[in-house]
Amino acid sequence: MNNLRLGPIRKAPFLRAPVLKEIAAVFTSAGKEVYLVGGAVRDLILGRDSADWDLATNALPEEVTRLFKRVIPTGIKHGTVTIHYKGASIEVTTFRTESDYSDGRRPDEIRYAAAIENDLSRRDFTMNAAAVKLPEGTLIDPFNGQSDISRKLIRCVGKPEERFAEDGLRPMRAVRFAAQLGFNLEKETLAAIPGALSTTARVAAERIREELDKTIASKSPQTGFIVMEETGLLRLILPELDACRGVEQKGYHRYDVLDHSLLACAYAARKNFSQEVRVAALFHDLGKPAVRQMGAGGIWTFYNHEKESVKLAEGIMRRFRYPNAVIDKVRRLIAAHMFHYEDVWKDNAVRRFIIRTGEDLLPELFDLRMADTAGTAGVEPNPAMLLPFKKRIEAVLAKSSALSLKDLAVNGNDLIAAGVKPGKYVGIILNELLEAAVDDPALNTREKLLEIAGNINRERY
Ligand code: ATP
Ligand code: MG
Repeated sequence: MNNLRLGPIRKAPFLRAPVLKEIAAVFTSAGKEVYLVGGAVRDLILGRDSADWDLATNALPEEVTRLFKRVIPTGIKHGTVTIHYKGASIEVTTFRTESDYSDGRRPDEIRYAAAIENDLSRRDFTMNAAAVKLPEGTLIDPFNGQSDISRKLIRCVGKPEERFAEDGLRPMRAVRFAAQLGFNLEKETLAAIPGALSTTARVAAERIREELDKTIASKSPQTGFIVMEETGLLRLILPELDACRGVEQKGYHRYDVLDHSLLACAYAARKNFSQEVRVAALFHDLGKPAVRQMGAGGIWTFYNHEKESVKLAEGIMRRFRYPNAVIDKVRRLIAAHMFHYEDVWKDNAVRRFIIRTGEDLLPELFDLRMADTAGTAGVEPNPAMLLPFKKRIEAVLAKSSALSLKDLAVNGNDLIAAGVKPGKYVGIILNELLEAAVDDPALNTREKLLEIAGNINRERY
């Protein structure tokens, strides 16, 4: 056992946080032990601040509930309750051992353990299996997590094959931590992943998505995806992306479609672009393998690949139960990613582009274009690359009075008052008025629109 007293760790500001000290005092005065565990300990050893505190104790959930005023049984099946204390909410889990996993997902039942060391031994990686005793700050580190952290290694607690067979999510957690922390997988841990794929295949989609999402949201998503490819996880989880390996696109690109996609996603992460832009960067070219054809002059063509990419990306996101709002935005981004602007465009062409794309989507669409360009060249794109188009859009928006039905100088009631029969014709005519106003903003006055509407109504209905 390696019970160090930690000089620098004791100085971590959050360990001295009054809330944490007061909570620890409640446990100790009731004769109970309490430890900081999980990610906060990892952060502490890394010298980082942590806002998310998980505690472990030998007090049973009902005892914790009695000790504090506001306690919510947030994960009582797993022995977890959440203490709400002076604005902080802190998860407290009773020491556990877990032995029986039958479905590769979750332990069948929890058993409480007597000592923190037992609790630590059920945890996934050595870096996650250290504890800090409160309030004194002694590090309990039976699996040498501190040393692995200093060597930037993700290593299973115990035998990797066994730990992965117990819970098939763990390989995905290793990938996620590699991306978040920039750590490597220790050799045996890495080598055990291919043999665990059939267990990972049975893990609930939502749990996989959570790790995928954290990987994509990390500073270095490509680090995780490279581990996934190397171990077969990519073929299992995202076969559509795996199929992009070796799809060369000489002519315009230096990279095959997979490397291009990873570079685009990496750029989006480096620039702190939204999660939807990152996902779109990763998936925007998924359709390329299916539509690739050799064109004239020996250059590969990928006509209409964005449509195929939308389909495949949507399939993936539905499979992993992404929220509809995310699916929708990513679909729109991918569908629009091939836009091509030229200075000779007339104002109405610019207006049509804005309407077709949706004004709300433009900032992220431009982010996606920057990422796509970075992934094509492999170097930082010219930051002013999109400036002419952006300026043009601003100028057109400034002088455009109608970009959607609500901007029109007339509404449905006006048309009815002017003699249009109530019903579907009202909508049809309104849309035609919008087309006219988009082509020529000067038409967007009440008088002119009613005149056009009258003409349409007389000629057709
Ligand atoms: P973060 O909260 O920053 O994402 P974390 O390490 O706290 O990172 P959590 O998912 O919050 O990760 O889990 C808290 C702790 O619970 C982990 O540090 C680990 O000790 C343990 N743990 C979580 N999931 C598993 C698992 N599938 N198998 C074994 N132990 C796990
Ligand atoms: Mg956590």
